[in-house]
Amino acid sequence: MIGIPIILKEGTKTEEGSVALNENISAIRAISEAVKSTFGPNGLNKMLVDSIGEVTITNDTSSILDEIEVEHPAAKMIVELSKSLNKNLGDGITKALILAGELLKNGKDLIDQKIHPNIIINGYSKALNKAISVIDSLSEQITIDDKDKLKNIAITALNSKSTYGAKELLANIAIDAILKIVEKRDKRNYIDLDLIQVMKKEGEQLQDTKIVDGVIIDKEVVHNNMPKIINGAKIALINHSLEITKTEFDTDIKITNPNQIISFKHEEENMIKSMIEKIAETGANVIFCQKGIDDLAQDLLANKGIMAVRRIKRSDLIKLSKATHGNIIVDIKNMRSEDLGTAEKVTEHQIGKDKMIFVEKCKNPNSISVLIRGGTKHIIEDAERSFKNVLNVIKIIVETPLILPGGGAAEIETSKQLRKHSHSIDSRESIAIEQFANALEIIPITLAENSGIDAMGLITELRAKHDEIEGHTYGINVYNKQILNMNKEGIIEPSIILKKALSSAVELSLMIFKVDRVVSVAKGSTGPKMPSKKDEEDID
Ligand code: ADP
Ligand code: MG
Repeated sequence: MIGIPIILKEGTKTEEGSVALNENISAIRAISEAVKSTFGPNGLNKMLVDSIGEVTITNDTSSILDEIEVEHPAAKMIVELSKSLNKNLGDGITKALILAGELLKNGKDLIDQKIHPNIIINGYSKALNKAISVIDSLSEQITIDDKDKLKNIAITALNSKSTYGAKELLANIAIDAILKIVEKRDKRNYIDLDLIQVMKKEGEQLQDTKIVDGVIIDKEVVHNNMPKIINGAKIALINHSLEITKTEFDTDIKITNPNQIISFKHEEENMIKSMIEKIAETGANVIFCQKGIDDLAQDLLANKGIMAVRRIKRSDLIKLSKATHGNIIVDIKNMRSEDLGTAEKVTEHQIGKDKMIFVEKCKNPNSISVLIRGGTKHIIEDAERSFKNVLNVIKIIVETPLILPGGGAAEIETSKQLRKHSHSIDSRESIAIEQFANALEIIPITLAENSGIDAMGLITELRAKHDEIEGHTYGINVYNKQILNMNKEGIIEPSIILKKALSSAVELSLMIFKVDRVVSVAKGSTGPKMPSKKDEEDID
């Protein structure tokens, strides 16, 4: 503490050197250990209860970390890592967290042997570069026309998720949906996941989940006498009320004779009539209105055989505008038929207790919706997480079609090659590279542990297998507990996932090893006073 108290506020706590490092490592390892048991097909779920008592049962690491509140600054860093991976990758989060925990544990062992953090930092950085080039050399290129491979990748991702018997279906829907929206940009495939709308509705079973070629709107047709199916839809997207407006400001209207009331009412009715006439003139046969549609307008529209839906969310109106290529109309008087959007079919469907509108085969063929069904709220929410996970995985593989064998095969092979590499290095960093290589084995170890398989025995067998010719694709299939060729088993995954998981785990470990002091400002302290705008002006 020498020298420091002079510049720090009273109550500020500082921790130095190995104390700070040990604390940071323990905090991260605590999180990493907590999510370990969720890893892989036999991972267990966690039951989360939020502050208002809502229960979520999931094995989805990012949902778990979203719910738990961590205090420790280093633990917060790992939560941030998980959030950023979830946002940018959407899979491999548990893998990254487990690897980070193990890299830190192995690094700490070296520090306990009096090896300077800088040696670990340099060794780990070099090991990462080497690991990435090994992963690249192990990666196999596929084409997105290879439906069997895409299916295997989807199933591998879903193996570790709750799918309530609908694994195949969810895999097929995810592949279908992604392939419908793939775009070519500079000869590369590009996926905009915003084009896939994932909706959920309680009722039926997960097996009844379906993909709709178009947009789904969670509303119903406003009037019983309106058609419930329109083929060759011409769609008016209206952001204007179709009702007799109530005056929004106080006015005194002096009415001296009863006829004036009637004519006043007529005036308003005429306005509605002329709006409806105008809409019908453009050839519209479907209306999606962001505002209200009153009884008179409903009757008039029904008489003209126009289907209408009211009080649409602004975001849905925008979605419809993109999908149907229709303009959002604010000024009905000046609307033109060119403003109408088009779709092959608009239908009202009874979904469970509710009705929903399907706008199918839109002008923009890239608009896709997936409607997740399931008996309870828990099931559909859990299935939605699983489905979004597999969508991300298929997006990754379509954008970068390189695969690795799963079940720990790629990790054990990278570990083996790194270990070999470390022996060829003279400097003290070689020991850090070796510890890095050891850390990679935590992946098959965790898969085994979570499946009740003897982990040490498995590692010995896997290492031996990887020393054989063509042994590099062997991993553990936790379903039959056998060491097998993962490519033949169809347990394959995008290369990018391991690359990103490993590099973010290393990045986090390096950050931690670089910290040699933790300075925490006392709770409730506001820190030094910043000059206010006024102070600055005064100075000027
Ligand atoms: P993450 O959050 O890192 O994606 P998961 O819980 O999804 O973690 O588990 C992914 C791991 O599960 C991958 O390493 C993958 O190879 C493995 N896996 C999937 N299916 C099998 C299987 N049948 N046998 C062994 N491992 C599998
Ligand atoms: Mg996964």
